[in-house]
Amino acid sequence: MPLSSPIHSAALAKALEAWFAECGKDYPWRRTRDAYAILVSEVMLQQTQISTVLDRGYYTKWMELFPDFGTLAAASEEAVLQAWEGLGYYRRARNLQQLARVVMERHGGVLPADPALILELPGIGPYTAGALSSFAFGLPEPIVDGNVSRVLARLFHDATPIDSREGIVTQWSRARELVVAASDPAAFNSALMELGQTICRTGQPDCESCPVRRFCQAVDPASLPVKTSRTVLTDVTERVFFRSTIEGVMLQQETGNRRTGLWKLPALPEGGELPPVLLKSKYGITRYRVTLWVHAAPEEVPEVEGMRLIRYEDLFQTPMPSPYRRALDAVMKGQGEFVLE
Ligand code: SF4
Repeated sequence: MPLSSPIHSAALAKALEAWFAECGKDYPWRRTRDAYAILVSEVMLQQTQISTVLDRGYYTKWMELFPDFGTLAAASEEAVLQAWEGLGYYRRARNLQQLARVVMERHGGVLPADPALILELPGIGPYTAGALSSFAFGLPEPIVDGNVSRVLARLFHDATPIDSREGIVTQWSRARELVVAASDPAAFNSALMELGQTICRTGQPDCESCPVRRFCQAVDPASLPVKTSRTVLTDVTERVFFRSTIEGVMLQQETGNRRTGLWKLPALPEGGELPPVLLKSKYGITRYRVTLWVHAAPEEVPEVEGMRLIRYEDLFQTPMPSPYRRALDAVMKGQGEFVLE
């Protein structure tokens, strides 16, 4: 009998739900059915570790500042970016606010309990729509992320590349079959993800501890899942300069890119002799590995679009991506030339 027969699907879902009831981790967003609170957690966790979101207080602080769609919709963009500072990928914060405004306008501040309507909201893809539908409304909607893909590829012993068109379609259809057979779609989806995070993890899984081992068809689980593409990192160099006065520091506000509205050290114009280096640091963003050089200001301070003096007392409130915040802090402490990896 194939694993995806209704009987096996129901038995597997039951085993997974029972394991989760006993061993599932307790997170604030798992204690609520508030769609807004769940949405915030999902967006924060898209590119950020749970430990960062929780232990450093980002989630709690955000929920205190913007407890519902209405407060987020009415907030200034600066306040939103500032609350997001340190999480990176600022487009997520902007999209979240844009979504809150649409929910206020179209749905009176209440997220609709309808997967099709949720999918129409800005910045919402199939994964988040499935997560909201199941976690907030208990609907049998599937979710497929990296963890779920890995578990499914192993359970079904499927070597179809999970990032191929065929692989994606298969993963979603298997996830749907399983969640439809579950008695508690929210618990089932959480369990599937958590199984991938903790037991059926990347590399060698801990099959001895697996609650669904008897259903698993994987022959060599560590060889699964298969992927077609590998992300190639590109090295780039970024040069900025540090210029301070008795009143404050010159910063540049970004425009026309994913960091629009955020502030950074001003870009050093190309050409001419490079001023002395104050600091070299490295950071990664999407598929780039960036070497950030902070130079002293050129003798004749260049005109840089969007540059202005930010007073020292306002620096803390000025939204700034973490790599620049760290570099600015280090330079202002006068630590001299060194490498911040
Ligand atoms: S038995 Fe092993 S490979 Fe199969 S689902 Fe469980 S942990 Fe993953």
